[in-house]
This record gives sequence, C-alpha cells and structure tokens, in this order.
Amino acid sequence: MRQPFAASADDADALFGLDALGPEPVTASSGRPSFRDSDAAHRLLCVREIHAEPAAAASPRGRQIIGRFPGARLVEVESHWRIPGLHGNEGNVARWVRVKGETLVLGERKSLRTRPNGRSADWIAPGASNGCAMSCAYCYVPRRKGYANPITVFTDIDRIVAHIGRHITRQGSKTEPNQCDPEAWVYDIGENGDCSVDALISDNTADLVHAFRRWPTAKASFATKFVNPDLLALDPRGRTRVRFSVMPPEDSRLLDVRTSPVAERIAAAADFLDAGYEVHFNLSPVVVRPGWEQAWADLLGHLDDVLPDRVKRQAAAEVIMLTHNRELHEVNLRWHPRAEDVLWRPDLQETKRSENGALNVRYASATKAPAVSRLRALVAARAPWLRIRYAF
Ligand code: SF4
Repeated sequence: MRQPFAASADDADALFGLDALGPEPVTASSGRPSFRDSDAAHRLLCVREIHAEPAAAASPRGRQIIGRFPGARLVEVESHWRIPGLHGNEGNVARWVRVKGETLVLGERKSLRTRPNGRSADWIAPGASNGCAMSCAYCYVPRRKGYANPITVFTDIDRIVAHIGRHITRQGSKTEPNQCDPEAWVYDIGENGDCSVDALISDNTADLVHAFRRWPTAKASFATKFVNPDLLALDPRGRTRVRFSVMPPEDSRLLDVRTSPVAERIAAAADFLDAGYEVHFNLSPVVVRPGWEQAWADLLGHLDDVLPDRVKRQAAAEVIMLTHNRELHEVNLRWHPRAEDVLWRPDLQETKRSENGALNVRYASATKAPAVSRLRALVAARAPWLRIRYAF
C-alpha cells in the first residue's frame, strides 16, 4: 500500500516508527566539505521524494539516507520492485530526467547472488543499488523497471558485504592470471548503477571500498561517468579499480545526459591513482557514425597528451561496441529523438531476442568486426601504452 506523507526526518519516525535519526557519518577525511553537500551535487540529485520499504526505512542505512534529505516526501511502498506510477515507461517520459534526480527508492535485496562474468570482471557481485540519476540514452541499467526509473538504494549493505566476503573466502587465491587481473579475483560492484553517484546518497560505496581493503585476494571494480571527489578520501589501498568510461566528447554531449564531461573524467584519473585506486578506462560505447574514427583518434590523442606516465603505466581498457534495444529506442524517440539518429542504425545493426523477450540490437558482424579492428589500430597508433583487456 502506498502512503504519501509530507516528511521531515521527524515525519520519518511518525511514518515508520523510527527513533531519532543518528548522525550522518562523514565521508571525507581530508577536512574539506563533502562534495555531496555542494551545489554541483544538488544539481544532479535534489531529492524531493523517497519511496521506502518499511524495513529499509527503519534500517541504520535507511535512517541515514532519510536524514540526509529532510525536506523529501516519504512514501511507504511494499516492494521496491513494483511502484505504480514510478516504474514503467508510461507517463514518465515527460518527466524523464526530473524523476531520476528528484526521487529515491529504498529497499532491501531479497536475494544475494554473485555471478561469474569473465569479461569485465571475474564475478558480478550483488550491487548496493539499482538505477542511476544520470540519463545516458543507451543505458540498459533500468531495463527491468522502466527506463525512467530512479536509483534504488539497498540499505542492507552489511548483508551484501558479508555475502561478498564469504564468496571471496570460498575462492581461495587466484592461481592463474587472466585478463581481468593477474592476481586478484575482480568483483564488479556496480553492474546496475554508478557507484560514484551512489556515494552522493549514502556510504554504501565507501563500505564496499573499505571492505575490499581487507581482502588481499580480491579487488572491487566499477565503471563510472561521474567524478565524485569524495571518493578520493576513501583510501582504497589498491583494492578498488575505477573504470572511467570515455567516448568522443561530441558523442558524449549528445548521449551521456547528466554525466561529468569526458575531459573532466580524464583529468581526474591521476587524482584517483594518487588516492590509491587502480584506474582503467572503458572505451564505451563505441558508436559507429559518420566521422567516428577521427573522433576516437582525437580522443585517444587527448588521453596520450594529458595523462601522466604513472597513470599510463597501470592503465588498461575495455572496448565495448554499442548495443541497443527496440523498447529503449521507442522510449527515446519520445524524449531525446536526436540520440536515436546515431543509436538506431538498422542499416548496420541486427536484432536478437534476449532470454527475457526483449529485442536487443547490435552491430552486425560485417560492421562490428572491422570497427573493432579499426579501434584497436587507433589505440596502437595513438595510445600504445593502453592495453586492451578485451573488446566486444
Ligand atoms: S552512467 Fe551508467 S548507469 Fe548511469 S545512466 Fe549512464 S550508462 Fe546508465
């Protein structure tokens, strides 16, 4: 049952039977104010409404989050999976971007499962969130809740961390190097969201980064399109890999709605390395359009020009060609049709029905294979220090 409620932190007590909210933990230890309290952070995420499962709202993490947004209206929901009016695409297209920045969902993970991957990471860990406040036009993350859905934060972070710890223990040491990592089991902790943005909301990302410090046989990994300086204070001690996603800036301006500019992501790489992260790059998605080769050549040249040697020495990259989806195409036509001029290319793409029945779209092999070869050649010519971990 949904229960709208004009809420303050005190109202949260009234609605969910909570005691006084505890103090918000401080993320930054550098003495500077947290970025997440800045105007820039508020521009991305200005939460006015929180939909919460009762148990999630009553949990320590849920209480911290509700306390961070005292002006937000609190709405009780039975399940974070089914929120009529919020999930699904119907009715939400007109307020596509607003709903992502102004609404949060708090829930608990019903099941915890770590899945094998073998490409980007050895394992996909159960994430501490689902959804994103940014609005990349090609994003598949919200596919199961409707494409306008906002971030769901999972408040049972202790269960998630304990589950990952048990999984790591069961693996023992990594004895065979592979392209994911020569020594450590790599766990992707951000499959269905962006951990840098999640860190604007709660300490879930900090808890995961800190947990991996204790696990010498494992490494966390997440891709991001957002530069959150608060992460620099987390002291990951080499056990977390940040993968900054990059694409030619002209593509990014059209497709990466609400993200940090590409130049800013690249400029942050050295700071993140110096703060104790491993820094890789995702060259993704590669969008084949007139002029794409020159645009990527220029981007790789920029990486070569501005990155210091210490970043280059440890960097590696994933290359991911664009995949798309008919349902997302149809939604995009209603809020961002210009993006579809480059994303939807039936002349170059083929469709494939996925296990859940969705019609996915990807470049046909006659386009994809030469494009991957061309991109590999461009990397070899413009950024020869950038080892490609895999390309698909
Ligand atoms: S940053 Fe990642 S998760 Fe967020 S909208 Fe873009 S592609 Fe999706």
